[in-house]
Parts: sequence; structure tokens; C-alpha cells
Amino acid sequence: MANQEDKFKKVISHAKEYGYIFQSSEIYDGLSAVYDYAQNGAELKKNIRDYWWQAMVQLNNNIVGIDAAIFMHPTTWKASGHVDAFNDPLIDNKDSKKRYRADVLVEDYVAKIEAKIEKEVTKAAKRFGDSFDKKQFLSTNQRVLDYQAKADRILKRLGKSLENEDLADVKALIEELEIACPLSGSKNWTDVKQFNLMFGTKLGSTAESAMDLYLRPETAQGIFVNFLNVQKTGRMKIPFGIAQTGKAFRNEIVARQFIFRMREFEQMEMQYFIKPGTQKAWYDTWKEKRLNWHLSLGLGEDNYRFHDHEKLAHYADAACDIEFKFPFGFRELEGIHSRTDFDLSNHEKYSGKKLQYFDPEENKSYVPYVLETSIGLDRMFLAVFSNALQEEELENNTTRTVLKLPAVLAPTKVAILPLLKRDGLPEVAEKLVNELKWEFTVAYDEKDAVGRRYRRQDAIGTPFCVTIDHQTLEDDTVTIRYRDTMEQKRIKLNEVGEIVAKEVDMKNWLKKLA
Ligand code: ATP
Repeated sequence: MANQEDKFKKVISHAKEYGYIFQSSEIYDGLSAVYDYAQNGAELKKNIRDYWWQAMVQLNNNIVGIDAAIFMHPTTWKASGHVDAFNDPLIDNKDSKKRYRADVLVEDYVAKIEAKIEKEVTKAAKRFGDSFDKKQFLSTNQRVLDYQAKADRILKRLGKSLENEDLADVKALIEELEIACPLSGSKNWTDVKQFNLMFGTKLGSTAESAMDLYLRPETAQGIFVNFLNVQKTGRMKIPFGIAQTGKAFRNEIVARQFIFRMREFEQMEMQYFIKPGTQKAWYDTWKEKRLNWHLSLGLGEDNYRFHDHEKLAHYADAACDIEFKFPFGFRELEGIHSRTDFDLSNHEKYSGKKLQYFDPEENKSYVPYVLETSIGLDRMFLAVFSNALQEEELENNTTRTVLKLPAVLAPTKVAILPLLKRDGLPEVAEKLVNELKWEFTVAYDEKDAVGRRYRRQDAIGTPFCVTIDHQTLEDDTVTIRYRDTMEQKRIKLNEVGEIVAKEVDMKNWLKKLA
């Protein structure tokens, strides 16, 4: 655990030190759970967004993208159920005065049980060596089976009491498990209460005429209210999808996990409109498609798992998360939800406008069902960034800090380094920068010894460095250095663009999806 915490602290400090993420309004001591993306962070975030957009919109003929406003008519949030049901169960510790999400306290308890299972697996793997069969071990070892049964029992009960709004039972569960406040160790809890997560604001100039608005807590509703406009103007035929990326706002009860849980964050959502009755098949299809998208980035298959929802949201008939192994354990990265016709039907009801699709094959109109994929851009950023950050022991007993970002997402693709600041080397380097910048992001660095410059680029995550030296002046060759292997090769100056382009081109990465 201490190790995990250390790793997470390193992630946060590295993000600041290398210009990825700053605390919002830091000079005023910051604003809780709000962050700014810095010069490198903004590039990485943009590249992740592009990677999602190209995979969803550009590569699917029947998916189009929109950009709806953050402000929406307030009735939207009545119809969507957010005014009445977008709540989290909160609980306060009477001694430490700290506030927690009751469900998260229980889930963290379960995560500890899961950590015990992992420990057993590691121990057994060591004992059995090559002959170790993890699957068999998990399904036969009595201690593991007992742990697993306990974890399942707890999650099931939590899901049920949340679904039945039985908040007294959630408290009872916390007491039975003897969960203590992580800060004070106290088990002196208040009752569990519901807390609405939407931020309110006002539109209008005079107090009397002002209209109460909400900052959108999800981007999805901007898609639903535009469903028919897009369908008609885009001549879309079911099944079709509408995608959107944009800011969402939630007044989270506890937000102590850096950009994992923010009060202002960005979502990348896609609503897929389908014929009623086909939702199960599309649910399975999109689960697979979305997992493949994640796997295409090469962060490691073992770092993902599906988690079926115990408690279904008010709109869903099936739902699961793709969980990722963050530095603090497996947590939700993306949700895949079969939303039925809940949203469109409710918008019909509240607006009095028909939101139906005329199906020429069936020769009738109906309210389509919806399959949603919803991923947090910031969470994806954290997944990529924390996975990439590594401390490596080198042969000469030194270590290096390297950010092994997928080359397609790296903020800077290549750094051009003149070996010395004289003898015409900077001029050659600058000429190369000016050629390459038309293709991708390029850095130029002439300060310090070249070894230190390599380390700096390693820490920023630049996949390639190209060094210009005296030999370049003689035979037009340069040294290219690969970030991950530290291998150095002599190549032709005029090959640099092509070699780098091949490795960073989004097309080559997205082809893995086909
Ligand atoms: P959680 O259970 O962690 O609060 P959720 O189930 O409420 O998440 P959804 O409403 O399904 O989340 O939102 C879809 C995605 O948006 C999530 O998978 C996550 O990646 C992202 N997301 C949700 N809330 C936040 C937040 N406060 N900060 C950053 N990303 C978020």
C-alpha cells in the first residue's frame, strides 16, 4: 500500500514538475479538485481526445460528432432524472468531521480484500514457479475462495440497499464491517444522507427574472435533445451514433484523487441509437469495441477488467465499467450503458415534442433505444500518464525517470539537439526543426550536455531525440535515440521525418482496431 501511495505521489509531482498538470489558481492556494492542464498536459489531452474522436467518428460512417452547449434548458435535467436522482450517499465522521461517500468507503474495504487475494496469488506464483496456473489457483484455493465470497457478498448487499434507497442499511453495513475513518481511525459515523451533485447557477440580469440553471453534469443530454435534428439533417439511418466531447461539472463529495475525480472535468461520450430489442447484442459489441480501443494503445492487457454494475442507474437495463489499474488499484475508467428509451421518452414527455424515428424497413415510427459509451478524458489521461511513468535501473547503477507514453499520444514527438552550440550545428538543427514542424510537434534544445538533454526528454516522454554533430556536416547523417530502449542509430538526415512519422502516425495505431 505504501508503495502504491508513493507511486501515486510521484505521478502527481512529476505531472507538475514537467508541465503536465497544475493545481487551479495555485497562487491562491488552489481550488479543491480543480486542475489546469499545462503546456505538455494540454497536448497529451488533445491527442487522447483526437485518438478517441478518430476511432469513433472518422472511422465509423454512421457516427457523427456534435458540440452542444454546456448550458441547457433547466427542464432537461428534470426529464433526465438528474434533479431527483443524481445523488451520492454521503456520511460524516463525527470525530474527524471528514465527509465521505458511503458507497466508496465500502468499495475501498472490498478493494482491500481484493488486495489480499492478489497477495495470495503472488505468494503462490513464487512457490509454484513455472507450473503456476493462476486460473486454477483462483478457483480452488480455499482462502482465496473465502475472500472472494466475502467481497461478492458485501458488494451485492451494497448494491441492493442503494437500489432500494435503504440508506439505514448502508450505514449498518459500514458499522458491521467496522470501517473506520481513514484519517482518524474513528468509527463514530452520522446517518447516511443523499446529496445532489449538480452545480446551480443563474441566467439573467435581474433577480426577479433570473432563471435557475445547472452546469451540465454529463454531456449525454446535449446529444439526446439534438437527436432528431441530427437524424434529419444528417439523413441518418438506425443504427447510428452521435459523439461528443466536452466539459461536465459535478459537486463531488470527496475529491482527493488528483484528476481521477474532479469537480470540473471532460467527458467523451457516444450515444448509439438502435432498434428496441437489439440492445443486448449492441451492448456486447460496444464492450468489445471499446476494450479494443484501449488495448490498441498498448498499456497492458492485465491492466483492464470489466465490472458489471450491481446497482443499475435509473436509466439502464444493463451496465458495466471498463476498470483500469490506477496507482491506487482497479477503478472505473469508462462506462458502457444500455440506456433503453429512458432519455428520449422522457424528453418527449417533458417537451411535448415527438422524438421518434420512422423506420422504413418496419414502416413504423418508434422511440429508439440507446447504447452509451462514456469515458472521462481526464481519467484516461491519468491512466496513460501513470502507466507510462517508470523508474528504471540502468547498468551503471544509476536510475532514470522515463515517461513511456504511447508515441501517438506524446506531446512532443521528436527533440532536435545540436551537440554543441557552435560550428554551424545549431543552424542545421534549426533547419531540421523547420522542416519537421509541418508534420508533428518538435522541440529544440541546445542547453547542457547531451546526456542531460536526453534525460529531460525521457522525463517529458518524447519518443525520439535526434542529435546533430560534426559528422552531420560531413556526411548528412544524424544519431537517432529511442526513448524506450535508449538505442542509438546513425541514420540519414533526410530519413528522420519518415522514421518518426511512421511511429507517431495515428493511422498506424488505429489500424490495430480493424
Ligand atoms: P464514479 O462512480 O467514479 O463517480 P460515475 O459512474 O458517476 O463515476 P459516469 O456518470 O458513468 O461516472 O461518467 C462516465 C465517465 O466520466 C466515468 O467513467 C469517468 O471516466 C468520468 N467521470 C465521472 N465523474 C468524474 C469526475 N468527477 N472526474 C473525472 N472524471 C469523471
